[in-house]
Amino acid sequence: MASNRKRPIAHSIYKRVILKISGESLKGNSAFGIDPEVLRYLAMQIKEAAQMGTQLALVLGGGNFWRGEEWEARGMDRATADYAGMLAILMNALALQDALEREGLITRAMSALDVQAVAEPYIRRRAISHLEDGRVVLFAAGIGNPYMTTDTAAALRALEINAEVVLMAKYRVDGVYDSDPHKNPNAKRFTHLRYIEALNLHLEVMDATALSLCMDNALPIIVFDLFTPGSLSRILAGEPLGTLIALDGETAAAKGYASPADTQRR
Ligand code: UDP
Repeated sequence: MASNRKRPIAHSIYKRVILKISGESLKGNSAFGIDPEVLRYLAMQIKEAAQMGTQLALVLGGGNFWRGEEWEARGMDRATADYAGMLAILMNALALQDALEREGLITRAMSALDVQAVAEPYIRRRAISHLEDGRVVLFAAGIGNPYMTTDTAAALRALEINAEVVLMAKYRVDGVYDSDPHKNPNAKRFTHLRYIEALNLHLEVMDATALSLCMDNALPIIVFDLFTPGSLSRILAGEPLGTLIALDGETAAAKGYASPADTQRR
């Protein structure tokens, strides 16, 4: 996988951010589980971001191993299936933590489920203190409750720790489109969307519970392709990459994103 060009390290415009990484991304090109090349790539991107002086907390998904809904459809009790999903997220957290530490980062994994042998329990004040001390924090096991998703965990944890933005990392999709860009060559990418527009479009990019939590609390979301090398750092440096989901055009303009009408054609 391509590595980043060497360039001077810019300073982050954000003090504290949440980066949501779905399980699907960790899978890379494999059919199931984790691709070690992807882990290494992510660790390099995260290291570069951490060097920009931003406090970085990661929320991991688990869909590369397990999805509660799918097992419910196969006849399993939903809550049980969801708890299994939360355990899957823990495997991802341990694997990414290991890759980050091999890149020399200091990390802490915090779990919403009690698994003290492998991760600290999630305690809000302790999480903030880790971030202030320059550690990369991995939030695992979602919220710790069934019927929830890790998107909602990303929104909730961002609000709890006063993160300024939720960065929704996508696998080879560089923002929100009006239709699937892999299937429709005329799909249009939005540079900016209001929360309500994103909700009405029933986008797959983030679930409705997470979106409405962000909307109610005016927490901006940036949807971007983490698999374009350097994209995370460029966003932290203030470049308007991907799609910003926020309250209004003014907020978007202030962040350098064009108005909603000004969508880009591929
Ligand atoms: N899950 C849950 N509660 C949470 C977070 C996740 O029950 O707070 C379960 C749920 O079964 C879900 C699975 O964990 O299907 C994996 O999480 P998610 O689908 O959000 O992962 P992603 O799509 O980001 O890989």
